[in-house]
Amino acid sequence: MGLLSSFRDGFISTCGKYFLHQGAYASVPERPSMCDKCHSDFGCFHAHGRYTRWVKTLKGAVLTPVRVWRQRWLCLCCGRTMSNGTPDVLPYIPNCTLVILALLWSYLEGEKGIYKSIPQELDEAATPRTLARYLKRAKAVCLETQQAIREVLIETREPRPWDECFHQGLSPPESLTKRYRNSTKAITLWRSLAILLIGYKTLSATPSLLMARARQKAEQRKTRFLI
Ligand SMILES: [Zn+2]
Repeated sequence: MGLLSSFRDGFISTCGKYFLHQGAYASVPERPSMCDKCHSDFGCFHAHGRYTRWVKTLKGAVLTPVRVWRQRWLCLCCGRTMSNGTPDVLPYIPNCTLVILALLWSYLEGEKGIYKSIPQELDEAATPRTLARYLKRAKAVCLETQQAIREVLIETREPRPWDECFHQGLSPPESLTKRYRNSTKAITLWRSLAILLIGYKTLSATPSLLMARARQKAEQRKTRFLI
């Protein structure tokens, strides 16, 4: 058990809402609160069929492909469709958000360049090019990610001053600053993920659960989260 052990299990195995149906993970369909195309939040959606897709997640800290059901919805405001299901599965991305988190963390916390930073356990999850793309997207939304993670932690342990808790151990590795001419965004990203990974130990919630709640916060504010 190396790096991956602290990431534990993906949302599907952690949250207790999912059951196997015809070999794929399903949950009770929930009408979306907002359209991801026109951002209408009137809640006018018609169920529009469902389908399954593959996603790579972590089970007992091991990379595992699973099939999940997605519910498709027709937005009556814009006439386009969107799908939902597990909140850690993103459109067109073959890895769940926990795997993306693990990939980003291996790079940010490790001392290697992007071509050597993918740990062996995640070899099948991404190529260096994919990781570079994740990193670019993650850096672009690092402030939104940080804000959402902070909100979840503050809400959970109020009035405990979180910044004090994290005062120690929140200095990014020196190698990170060395790898960038301007490392501000990489450091913000490192710090948000560090808070998530330290936070879960203090809160005894797994990273995937904390992340799902943070994503929900970001969605409510109509901002992106993680990538
Ligand atoms: Zn719409």
